[in-house]
Amino acid sequence: MFQDGYREQGLRKQLAKKLKEKGISDTKVLDAIASVPRHVFLDKAFLEQAYQDKAFPIGEGQTISQPYTVAFQTQLLEVGKDTKVLEIGTGSGYQACVLSHLKVKLYTIEYNKALYNKTSNFLRSAGLTKINFFFGDGSLGLPSFAPFDRIIVTAGAPSIPEKLIHQLVIGGKLVIPVGDDKNQMMLRITRISENEFQREEFGAFKFVPLLGKDGW
Ligand code: SAH
Repeated sequence: MFQDGYREQGLRKQLAKKLKEKGISDTKVLDAIASVPRHVFLDKAFLEQAYQDKAFPIGEGQTISQPYTVAFQTQLLEVGKDTKVLEIGTGSGYQACVLSHLKVKLYTIEYNKALYNKTSNFLRSAGLTKINFFFGDGSLGLPSFAPFDRIIVTAGAPSIPEKLIHQLVIGGKLVIPVGDDKNQMMLRITRISENEFQREEFGAFKFVPLLGKDGW
């Protein structure tokens, strides 16, 4: 279990309130933000920072995404209990914990070996034993466990990886930031039929690059 206390809980409630003011409307997502500890992913010295709406370095040159971005992508994903979700870019594991709080069936893949080891060990030892962790190139998806109801990419891609949209069920959705190294457009791709896809755009964001064969 995570170390947690009233102070942390109070800071989280304030964070959820702030995200609501910024336009996050899904109450389940706001509840997840108010419930999932974020300070446990940062060094103890950074308690206040943990509950500010900011990205933060987590080592290996990577960042824990900004809470607003996590909430925004989670809201776009439209998940419920037992939704089968693939997350690409496990990173710190914070987004994975938010999704777990929403009771999805989670598969998460990370391309950086050190981060994969660190995060999978940390979350398993914290009791999040239902999350399925994988090490590898998520730009190719996770073919042996496909299809998925939802795929969330938490790194910026140069284009929509072909293999990902084909690992969606019909009616499935992919949420992915696509663009150059400066900023990316948040896209939601819905698989309408075997070969038809609908594309929606949701504004500009900034992510670390999606590496790998179908990434940068
Ligand atoms: N979801 C994370 C965000 C981490 S930042 C969180 O909540 O903290 C993006 C992560 O994507 C980094 O950890 C990076 O190593 C990883 N990544 C980049 N390219 C990848 C790829 N092809 N497959 C899997 N992970 C990748």
